Amino acid sequence: MSREPRERQPRVGQVKEVTSLANPIVKDIRALAQKKHRDASGTFLAEGLKLVIEALELGWRLKTLVYAKAVRGRPEVEKVAARAVAHGGLVLEASEKVVAAIARRDNPQMVMGVFEQRLTSLAEIRPAKDETWLALDRVRDPGNLGTIVRTADAAGVRGVILVGECTDPFSLETVRATMGSIFVVPLVRTTPEAFVAWQRTSGAALVGTHLEGAIDYRTIAYSDRPVVLLMGNEQAGLPEELAKACDRLARIPQAGRADSLNLAVATGVMVYEARRHLLALGEGS
Ligand code: SAM
Repeated sequence: MSREPRERQPRVGQVKEVTSLANPIVKDIRALAQKKHRDASGTFLAEGLKLVIEALELGWRLKTLVYAKAVRGRPEVEKVAARAVAHGGLVLEASEKVVAAIARRDNPQMVMGVFEQRLTSLAEIRPAKDETWLALDRVRDPGNLGTIVRTADAAGVRGVILVGECTDPFSLETVRATMGSIFVVPLVRTTPEAFVAWQRTSGAALVGTHLEGAIDYRTIAYSDRPVVLLMGNEQAGLPEELAKACDRLARIPQAGRADSLNLAVATGVMVYEARRHLLALGEGS
């Protein structure tokens, strides 16, 4: 009978000490700041002990664990290092200088993980009753995307579909802004054509948001069938071909002089309205 390898304290030799920025492993991790290296390696960097532990618990594959020398010996760090080793990951004990260089900031998190990227394919998605999916047309701003993934998680959105040329969900800035929700919310990447074709057979209502939408977003029946909410690009809004594919084009009323809401804010308003009938304060929330 095969068994999971027993988790044990990492032995000397399984943890590499690194102090130099010239170390090739450190160079590879630092290169993950660039999309082409994330794409080529299929990995990304996430920061923070709590986040790394949660990701491991959710079954994400940790390729490399980096922790600062200053936290060596802390029970939680030892535990996560043992776990990384047991699952075939590499563990680096790094100087503060190396940790700051990897995080590209002062006062970095003391623990970071390089994880394998994970995307869901559109073909696997069959929206079920009471499910809300969120589709984003060419979202460009990493902070917006991270905030949206975090908000989607909080509101119980089933997953986020990235339509067209979107900012990379695995960039450091986006991952930071998700505050760990990147490990919880399934992400899909697709083209506008494939999205429209999928939506036609998905059984879900496609509710687009548009500054010229004729329908007040509060008057839509979100509980009749699964819903896909479609949000437009920050600069251009929804293109004609996507707007045409929508069952409804909703607008959030505005009173002041602002032309529009920020994309992440508009998304927050929409997902909470679409899921209003499903959300309630309960134990632990
Ligand atoms: N100049 C863009 C335009 O003309 O659509 C503004 C885009 S807005 C910053 C980004 C996206 O947020 C929009 O495409 C839409 O999805 C959503 N949005 C922002 N304000 C909205 C509103 N009042 N009603 C409906 N959607 C809104």
